[in-house]
Amino acid sequence: MRTSSKAAAAVALGFVLTAVFAAPGIAGAPNCRGDSISVHDLASGCHGGSGVIALDDGRTFAVPAAGVTLTAAPVAEGDTDPGDVVIANRGAAGIAVQVDEVWAGSPTAVRQERAAQQRRTLGATIRGTVSHGGATTSASCGSKAYVLTGAHWESPVRWRYNPSGAKVSNVAAIQRGAEAWTGTITACGQTVRSTAAQEYLGTATQKPAVTADGGCGTSNRTSVIGWGKLPSKTLALTCIWSFTDGVAFETDQRYSTSHRWGSTSTCSGNRFDLRGIATHEWGHSYGLGHTAQKSGLVMKPSSTVCDTAQRTLGLGDVRGIAALY
Ligand SMILES: [Zn+2]
Repeated sequence: MRTSSKAAAAVALGFVLTAVFAAPGIAGAPNCRGDSISVHDLASGCHGGSGVIALDDGRTFAVPAAGVTLTAAPVAEGDTDPGDVVIANRGAAGIAVQVDEVWAGSPTAVRQERAAQQRRTLGATIRGTVSHGGATTSASCGSKAYVLTGAHWESPVRWRYNPSGAKVSNVAAIQRGAEAWTGTITACGQTVRSTAAQEYLGTATQKPAVTADGGCGTSNRTSVIGWGKLPSKTLALTCIWSFTDGVAFETDQRYSTSHRWGSTSTCSGNRFDLRGIATHEWGHSYGLGHTAQKSGLVMKPSSTVCDTAQRTLGLGDVRGIAALY
């Protein structure tokens, strides 16, 4: 369940946090090495540009290069929500980790990254309320909420598609998802002009840097979208790499090969709608975070089969993209 898994994560990291702020300074801190660096290890202020961080929940993340912040945003089925993860390599200050709202890792890096995140999002994270919700088709027009991750692009997102293992072969559905956020957008009676931009460069043989345990691999400066294994309830996962100033330089997306997908105009059967989920993933790629599930917006964290409404931006979604671009 969504709430309980969040609570569990908070409990798990809560212990680490207490330990973190009692930790000594970073002078003489060791390098972070190995393929299973724990968040507790990071509390020592260790630094380095290699190795793999393993969260208590089993997700693993290749340590991003110094000066790079990695954001991982999953979308899950039903009412599950594994939680967003941020890993910021602050160089000599060490590495900060954020799971949902809970920070851990090097205390100095946490302090620096929290301040940087506030600057990057311009204090614009608006966790608005649902003025009229429920199971109506206009639910997504009842919420003005949007969340900025702090990442944004100053150039078009140039991306490639790897069809290997595709459960439904339709790159056009993914492209439609990308285009939902660009140009002149009218939704819920509001029209905005978005400068968000993307360019599809064709197919790739390389895999997206997303791991089967629901984490992110090593950035290679090429944005790739493709298919592969993910944790059982996770439908798709987007990883974004950005510099300390928030300018993104790579985004990779992986769609789960363990689920049934559809890409027809009217979805039917027990299939997840590729275009709808892709619209959500592209929201992450451009720099939007999750809103509350009850918002009914494209950026809600969980989805259900044939949720074709997720192809269309809601009020908070258009406000969010307009705030960013
Ligand atoms: Zn998501």
